[in-house]
Amino acid sequence: MALRFYNTLTQQVEPFSALHDNTVRMYTCGPTVYDFAHIGNFRTFVFYDLLRRWLHASGFKLDHVMNITDVEDKIIRNANAAGQSIGEYTAKYTQAFLDDCATLRLERPERLVKATENIPAMTDAIRRLAEAGCTYTSDGSIYYRIAAFPEYGKLSHNDFSGIRAGARVDVDEYDKADARDFVLWKAAKPGEPVWETEIGPGRPGWHIECSAMAMKYLGETLDIHAGGVDLIFPHHENEIAQSEAITHKPFARFWLHSEHLTVESQKMSKSAGNFFTLRELLEQGYAPETIRYALLQVPYRRKLNFTFDGLKAAKASIDRLRSFQLRLDTDKPAEGNNEAVEKRTAEAREQFESSLDNDLNTAEAIAAIFEYIRDANTALDAGEFRAGNVAAARDLLARFDCVAAVLEPSEQKSGLTDEQVQARIEERNGAKKARDFARADRIRAELLEAGIVIEDTREGVRWKRS
Ligand code: AMP
Ligand code: ZN
Repeated sequence: MALRFYNTLTQQVEPFSALHDNTVRMYTCGPTVYDFAHIGNFRTFVFYDLLRRWLHASGFKLDHVMNITDVEDKIIRNANAAGQSIGEYTAKYTQAFLDDCATLRLERPERLVKATENIPAMTDAIRRLAEAGCTYTSDGSIYYRIAAFPEYGKLSHNDFSGIRAGARVDVDEYDKADARDFVLWKAAKPGEPVWETEIGPGRPGWHIECSAMAMKYLGETLDIHAGGVDLIFPHHENEIAQSEAITHKPFARFWLHSEHLTVESQKMSKSAGNFFTLRELLEQGYAPETIRYALLQVPYRRKLNFTFDGLKAAKASIDRLRSFQLRLDTDKPAEGNNEAVEKRTAEAREQFESSLDNDLNTAEAIAAIFEYIRDANTALDAGEFRAGNVAAARDLLARFDCVAAVLEPSEQKSGLTDEQVQARIEERNGAKKARDFARADRIRAELLEAGIVIEDTREGVRWKRS
């Protein structure tokens, strides 16, 4: 069976193909750069990366656009508090986001586009909406009249027919219960950035940003639009209302939404205060690929509960994968080719690929690899796995890693300060004096794990970062 995705719009799993020349035109909602992103956000960005990589591996070309929201209520508030312009303020967090993405081995979209660099596309879209009779102005702000779009609610599968016409919201984020006319263009206010434009002075709302930039760069109908489930309503519902009222064409053919990363069944978020940034976890000594693996292993439409045990299990899984790879590189199997092993390798590859084809079922895809490794290790122990079988096994691992991207070890930087290392060494010295060698060895191993190599010399203990 070919590649297929669950489409939020139709609530069905559908076979996927690209509309034009085998090139997937894809838009994914990017970060609001008001702070460091947390690993909940990164679950969604890792999902985009998985989607990209599997589309590529399946033979598609990509034209992937992701926005950077660099003008928004929270940004304005924080920049004012820091006494900076929004440009200065967002530059720091945009760079931090790009660095974090690189750390997590996320491929760069073909285009990263900033809201502030695309204001004319937004005012143009608002002008066209006004011409289509979908807008009205109140106190200098321009609103979208949702009653003008009878299909409003088709993505989130809500019936909004009974809502009060004319009630409106100025904030960008709100609940289903608050479905109202939403703001497209916010009137200029003291202390806020302002653009002088053909539709008057002001700044764009969040929703028009994505409609305008998606259509500017990718055309009127996208193949895929993706985001976290929290974006289905109102953000993506509003994007459809805006884009389709202008073009009268379907805005996106496939809508893909990833579920949340949770902590004790609550969504990880800045506002709940239950979040970890990537940087925090790295400081605690977790490798980037461990975090990437932990975020990838649960299929994207299932909630993923974050735990430190989960991270440890992810590390153990990567260790197993690497040990098998090492074995393929260093064992010297006897000449020849074992047909049963050959068949088993082909079968594992088939299972791996068909699991990802099935709406990116990473859990099954990974299970296929681990079951294979178990069987291949048994065959290696028994001398059945032959030299002629190695290449196909290596290929399978490479196929796995072209989407998983976890096999290559990253440079481990120790999160420990010099003082912390010194304190651990004192502890170890104490343990040795007390002839508790097991404990001394354990401390040495823990330091090694954290990237610190220690050496006992006549002059005492020397250490260095590996
Ligand atoms: P933001 O920077 O808040 O606009 O969010 C960026 C992306 O992260 C959006 O696509 C959100 O849907 C996603 N997101 C936010 N919180 C979580 C979470 N706890 N789990 C998964 N994705 C999230
Ligand atoms: Zn968006």
